[in-house]
Amino acid sequence: MPRSIAIDGPVGAGKSTLGAELARLLGYVYVDTGALYRTVGHYVLKKYGNTYSEEDVVATLGEINIEQRLAGDTTKIYLNGSDVSAVIRDDAVSAAASRVSGFKRVRDFLFALQRDVAKGNNVVMDGRDIGTVVLPNADCKLFLTASCEVRAKRRTQQLERAGQKVNYNEVLENMKERDYNDTNRLIAPLKMADDAILIDSSEKSFEETLQELYELARED
Ligand code: C5P
Repeated sequence: MPRSIAIDGPVGAGKSTLGAELARLLGYVYVDTGALYRTVGHYVLKKYGNTYSEEDVVATLGEINIEQRLAGDTTKIYLNGSDVSAVIRDDAVSAAASRVSGFKRVRDFLFALQRDVAKGNNVVMDGRDIGTVVLPNADCKLFLTASCEVRAKRRTQQLERAGQKVNYNEVLENMKERDYNDTNRLIAPLKMADDAILIDSSEKSFEETLQELYELARED
């Protein structure tokens, strides 16, 4: 049986950077499930702009083919054959991803994709519902968080490094809104699994947090 490590947590807790690095250390495949929701959000935004219903979104799912391809140390996301790895990081796409992630048929569509990867590979998978819904039998479940202010600061720096002009207060508000949506939606809300281990990285460096995750996730 392949091994699986589930990492869940709120926006900006460092799940994807830490998850990718942890996967590299363990020699596992890294799956950023947020990128999958973002890809659907991006497609819907391009097709409908900001005005769309759940039915509109469900009707487009058959037009969407998402692939994860390894490119050196990183994983690229392809939508119908085009690399969308950069464009799905836009703030407009974050909001669309947050919205479409509340639609059950979208979750079912992406659930199959996520489960298929985990069936055939050792994985580190990060998201909101990995330990609770997608991989309830994961070998190790980690719930990664940090204070709201620390997360907003890190996210601001990350966007600035990516060349985007951002304002800390806007990032903070935007993050709180997405956290609220993710925590309060009816289907697969962000929730710590009963058997997950809580890691608060507010006072820890990237390296310290990574080391902690590695100690918890590695095979004995
Ligand atoms: O992790 P990231 O911020 O890139 O995810 C984008 C959005 O996708 C989240 O705000 C959340 O609404 C949604 N998501 C989800 N379930 C997951 C991963 C992401 O609902 N497993």
